[in-house]
Amino acid sequence: MSDTATENSTTLRFFADWLDAGGARVGQIAILPRGTDGDGRAKYRLCHRDDADEAQNATPATLERYHRAGDALEISKSNARGDYRPLKSSPDLRRGWYLALTGAAAVREALDFFHPAMIGSFFRHRDGALRTVPLRQTLERQTGMYRFARNISPAGAQALIREHCDSTRGCLKKILWPVSADEPIASLPPEKLDPAAVAAGEMPLLCNEACHLLVAGARLAAKREAAAASEGDS
Ligand code: SF4
Repeated sequence: MSDTATENSTTLRFFADWLDAGGARVGQIAILPRGTDGDGRAKYRLCHRDDADEAQNATPATLERYHRAGDALEISKSNARGDYRPLKSSPDLRRGWYLALTGAAAVREALDFFHPAMIGSFFRHRDGALRTVPLRQTLERQTGMYRFARNISPAGAQALIREHCDSTRGCLKKILWPVSADEPIASLPPEKLDPAAVAAGEMPLLCNEACHLLVAGARLAAKREAAAASEGDS
């Protein structure tokens, strides 16, 4: 078996154990156990957490039914207004659907479409094996047009993180990285930086390195700072 196949089967085993132990939520998605099929395989329904009561009904009248793990791609593509969701962890997953699946492997596959790589990251973090990268290191590594992002000021970086990463407006992930080794994130509440600060049965979504949207935002903010400084000089 290749290393990737071994890691996949290990992650699936961990995930199945997590489900068996009462795992019930990932991001805005609720995972509802639905007994077993004729072969004794566990059945589940996935839905938006705010639709969980309706999805418990035998035939949820107000929810659209899906039944393939890959349907998660379509469901997660756009928000309730029909706008494309560039960030899968933004807090605007649309409601009005449920996804009926059988077996932990299918649930894991669907969640990987909703939140790519998050299950693997969670188990690596739990085992102390998830590498985290400070924001300054991520910005220093940028090349081409994104190279300028490294010039963002300390105050600008804090404001940028607050604007992009806030859980209520921007992104549901817990942030594991600092701005730099001696500069923690000070612009977000402590629970945003604490993977353990989740509800019972909830798997936290983890951010171990700043995403491309934050890097792009850093570039724009650094350019605005540079323009303001040169106006001040003239
Ligand atoms: S940097 Fe991380 S927490 Fe912030 S918006 Fe991107 S993925 Fe979310």
